[in-house]
Amino acid sequence: MQMNIQTLDSTYIAHTYGRFPLALAHGKGSLVYDESGKEYIDMATGIAVNTFGIADDPWVQAVTEQLSVLQHTSNLYYTEPCAKLAEMLCLRTGMKKVFFSNSGAEANECLIKTARKYSADKYGAGRHTILTLENSFHGRTVTTLAATGQDVFHKDFLPQTEGFESYPADDPQVICGRMAKGDVAAVLFECVQGEGGVLPLKPEFVSALSKCAAEQDVLLCCDEVQCGNGRTGKLYGYMHYGITPDLVSTAKGLAGGLPLGATLMGEKVQDVLQPGSHGSTFGGNPVCCAGAVSILSRLDDVLLAEVQKKADYIFNELSSAPGIKSVTGMGLMIGIETEGDSGEILNACMEQGVLVIKAKQKLRLLPALNIPWDVLKKAVAVIKTCAAV
Ligand SMILES: *Cc1c(COP(=O)(O)O)cnc(C)c1O
Repeated sequence: MQMNIQTLDSTYIAHTYGRFPLALAHGKGSLVYDESGKEYIDMATGIAVNTFGIADDPWVQAVTEQLSVLQHTSNLYYTEPCAKLAEMLCLRTGMKKVFFSNSGAEANECLIKTARKYSADKYGAGRHTILTLENSFHGRTVTTLAATGQDVFHKDFLPQTEGFESYPADDPQVICGRMAKGDVAAVLFECVQGEGGVLPLKPEFVSALSKCAAEQDVLLCCDEVQCGNGRTGKLYGYMHYGITPDLVSTAKGLAGGLPLGATLMGEKVQDVLQPGSHGSTFGGNPVCCAGAVSILSRLDDVLLAEVQKKADYIFNELSSAPGIKSVTGMGLMIGIETEGDSGEILNACMEQGVLVIKAKQKLRLLPALNIPWDVLKKAVAVIKTCAAV
């Protein structure tokens, strides 16, 4: 890598990221190239963002067409891509309204504001507690940190926003018991915990939670920032569980590589936010929305079935491979627990031209949903070899 980039970066950019010693320059599909021209198979897609890989042709066309006619309007005016995308999201989920923002954390901020206002409008002040799960991840803003059920993220930034409590994801009795106290507005969870180690919630847990939340008029809220947009083999992760959430947040893969967050609102909460309740300067930017329309229109049943097939292939290949203790996840959101040090295995994979990332101590795979079979097979073979030593 050009030393220049690394030096400039470490001189002038806040040291919030532990970067790999690699400067990526360009790519196509599931292949990406560094400064020197070395090729890598991208099994991480910028953390589940580049849904159809790099510089995907139809996506580039949709985005550049919009970019060349109108890049931004502010939310004082209507734009077609924004309205069209909202319709697509509602028709495909059964949700009733959408609020657009720019990131996962912001999609959760809107979700939290909507949940609290629903409760305040209907029950008055004080019924504002939001229950989350231990080991969850909901973002880096002050409030979404409070929602995140991992103390390691909290410790340097106290005091937290009040009104968040996290509970274990294995016993619905505990969390349902907490709801019964009468001061709870919502329960928020990822159907597949991503940062927490690629852990799908148990169907029995989710159904029990859904049932007791409905009984108490506690809003059922799904954080689909990582597990949404086709990643798990269904359009949204919650669709594997047969539940109807009141609120859904999503971002990462939604616009295929451009910053876009969305908060989807179900019937109960569709009219909670009113003029003045919330807003965002960039939210629903027409270029990002045009990208998302292109992505969503291609996340059809054929593509999702193919995602599932590729997921089955990876699970089968890796589950019983030497050096691999377990494989978890859903669809093309996969965690690998290794016998050897995962950081060393990650570096060995990089050396051999395969980019993977970590989730806690696991390796994490988040390939493009349209990764070609031959490329996928090559990457899996490298991961197997590197995990075996
Ligand atoms: C990444 C992530 C977020 C935060 O999204 P940002 O776009 O980084 O703000 C929130 N929730 C989950 C489940 C995530 O994976």
